[in-house]
Amino acid sequence: MARRLPRDEDEWKKRLTPAQYAILREKGTEPAFTGRYYRSKEDGAYLCAACGAKLFSSKAKYNSRSGWPSFWAPVFEAAVSRKEDISTGTRRVEVACRRCGSHLGHVFEDGPAPSGLRYCINSASLEFKSGKKKD
Ligand code: FE
Repeated sequence: MARRLPRDEDEWKKRLTPAQYAILREKGTEPAFTGRYYRSKEDGAYLCAACGAKLFSSKAKYNSRSGWPSFWAPVFEAAVSRKEDISTGTRRVEVACRRCGSHLGHVFEDGPAPSGLRYCINSASLEFKSGKKKD
């Protein structure tokens, strides 16, 4: 369920771990092959780790061999926002949570069909919710 949004950065700092804060609020990147989810294949939903909004489904997840969780589409187009990022000198498109504005990762045009897109997302920006029913 989506959570109430913090009023300011201080409140974000209290709510998130330092590693999450550095990625979600300061546009950081976790090292490749270190996150929780790059190898996950379980059925379920990936929520924004900052605000709880539903962002991606396991149905659109694939193994890009990049070391980050990769999806060919968000759960719906407006779940994320896209913005040009030239901070490293190379033109990239940053992807953020539409609801809370937190940084998720980048989208590249080298993904699989049907979209041809690769949403390259930090595990630290995501919270997995299993789609399996509990007995
Ligand atoms: Fe969010």
